[in-house]
Amino acid sequence: MTAVLEGKNLVRDYHIGGGLFGRSKIVHAVKGVSFSVEKGKTLAVVGESGCGKSTLARMITMIDAPTSGELLIDGERVDIAHRGLSKAMRRKVQIVFQNPYGSLNPRQKIGDVLAEPLLLNTDLSASERRDRAMQMLKKVGLGSEHFNRYPHMFSGGQRQRIAIARALMVNPSLLVLDEPVSALDLSVQAQILNLLADLQDEFGLTYVFISHDLSVVRYIADDVMVMYFGEVVEYGPREQVFSVPQHSYTRTLFAATPKSDVDSIRARLAKRAGLALA
Ligand code: ADP
Ligand code: MG
Repeated sequence: MTAVLEGKNLVRDYHIGGGLFGRSKIVHAVKGVSFSVEKGKTLAVVGESGCGKSTLARMITMIDAPTSGELLIDGERVDIAHRGLSKAMRRKVQIVFQNPYGSLNPRQKIGDVLAEPLLLNTDLSASERRDRAMQMLKKVGLGSEHFNRYPHMFSGGQRQRIAIARALMVNPSLLVLDEPVSALDLSVQAQILNLLADLQDEFGLTYVFISHDLSVVRYIADDVMVMYFGEVVEYGPREQVFSVPQHSYTRTLFAATPKSDVDSIRARLAKRAGLALA
């Protein structure tokens, strides 16, 4: 089976400062990271603030080019710097951020937020776009009554549902979720994680799920990659990483992780995997 996503020795440096007379400094944000994710699976990327998670997310979503290394999507090499990117390639990978409010236009109705990607990427008529937006609203647990409302009229959890719906409008194969539940209350976190699990099943989606919270990742990850100062210090199947963490940093993360209210997620995923989770 080909991997939907593959990273080979990805590196990203940032040059900061400098100016006319100042001396510039290089930040090595991601230092040679390799991974691969198969269709329908979830790779969790975990680590403390500043370890390079969002930098990695920007490379995977083709927002930033890596300084070096290779990125392959559906087996095809991505080369933003030299060859540009086709629209089809761009559509394959979508991202959901921690705070979707920042990317929602306060004066745009939610129905239009969802229909907009179709306007930009398809030849569908206005009424077809509207129908598709309405369908997707339902898929993420909202209703037609929300169609004409503005972003400020929604709760944090609802806004995250909208961001997920918008990301899915163009039928991506890969969703990068950068701390998607970190700003939410625990019970709402559980609802969003359940929704993501359902959508993954229904659409065969592949996820890269980024979090600083190991307890969240525990229930959604197939594989877990732990980053520390731009490097991967642990990478393997969930059970392995959780039962026998190899690296002292992973053990520290365990100790620092609050226990979330994730009973419903546990039940959901146990059912899905057909096995009892520890
Ligand atoms: P995380 O998402 O894990 O918190 P980031 O990927 O945002 O980490 O940041 C990794 C490192 O790269 C940090 O030291 C951060 O300060 C630095 N960094 C991130 N983005 C930039 C940028 N645009 N310019 C300069 N340095 C950056
Ligand atoms: Mg980040």
